[in-house]
Amino acid sequence: MYPLLTVNLEHLRKNIRTVRGLCAAHGISVTSVTKVFRGDPRIAQVLVEEGMTMLGDSRVANLARMENLQAEKWLIRPPMLSEIPDLVRYGDASLNSEMAVVRAINAECVRQGRRHRIILMADLGDIREGYVDYEELIRAAVETDRLPGVELYGLGVNLTCFSFIQYDTEKLTKLAELFREAEEAVGHPLQIVSGGNSAAVDLMLRGGIPAGVNNLRLGESVLFGKERAKHRFLPDTYQDVFTLECEIVELKEKPSLPWGTVGVDSYGKKPEFTDRGEHRLKAICALGKQDFDVETTTPCDPGIILLGASSDHLMADVTDSREHYEVGGTIKLQLGYFSTMRAFTSDYVAKQYIG
Ligand SMILES: *Cc1c(COP(=O)(O)O)cnc(C)c1O
Repeated sequence: MYPLLTVNLEHLRKNIRTVRGLCAAHGISVTSVTKVFRGDPRIAQVLVEEGMTMLGDSRVANLARMENLQAEKWLIRPPMLSEIPDLVRYGDASLNSEMAVVRAINAECVRQGRRHRIILMADLGDIREGYVDYEELIRAAVETDRLPGVELYGLGVNLTCFSFIQYDTEKLTKLAELFREAEEAVGHPLQIVSGGNSAAVDLMLRGGIPAGVNNLRLGESVLFGKERAKHRFLPDTYQDVFTLECEIVELKEKPSLPWGTVGVDSYGKKPEFTDRGEHRLKAICALGKQDFDVETTTPCDPGIILLGASSDHLMADVTDSREHYEVGGTIKLQLGYFSTMRAFTSDYVAKQYIG
């Protein structure tokens, strides 16, 4: 039964309404990103019920899990050449940066008698996916537009994911310019200018997204109510859509500092410890790095300090808590982005839905 992940669908609904409203007020459509919860159809269903018409995931396997949902499904990672048949079967659109892949998608669309929409990516500085040669990008747009099985849907950019380059008006103006160039080159209007992820929400709220950019692909801001440029929580959102309860398997008074000769951890780093005294009440929970990520997790009880985790043990200091804890009892955690992702990926974590 434990570890047990609880998904609060009522709180999720509130977040969706808030973020969709904020984006609509700025003329931005939302592609709701589902990769954090592994395309779980029960959760994606709520996104669709609340008016999300476009869903995005980085894995084709997750798009397949959402097969029965009425929404346009985007693959938001450049597709693997080896997965094109399933991409065309389960996806309606994808973000692309290699013509060899776009040609293969086209051929597969002709074979299956399906249509697929292509968004070509520009790299505007994050050094992740996309064309850095913008003339090549325009040539790719022209070639894509001429292919019979695919439709050139528009252009996109992604920032703040690898190099943590921030979104700004100048960069997104460049994207809008490239879009106009692409429209001119193909000789007809295109639809989508996908300006980024949750790290672009702050710029949007400051009115800094230029005219022409009309879409964002949002995961974190919808699911956790958090924009990712300044890591601020958005008003009228909940941060506790995903919580995890884990069971205490040892509870003992122990010193805060280890004793003996200190070696290095699995990453080759020397661990550091804070001296909080000789007599601390320490809990070990049956939860580990396979199931969650300690850096993006906060205990629901503010009196608990999370000390760290190994593959299968979470160490927590409960000395300062006003609650009573015991072996066989549980500790409740509020999960952030990577922690939620791991919890959904772990077979050891049970899932329940409320609201
Ligand atoms: C993960 C991802 C997103 C969503 O990012 P959030 O920060 O969760 O909003 C958007 N676009 C691409 C290409 C992604 O990989």
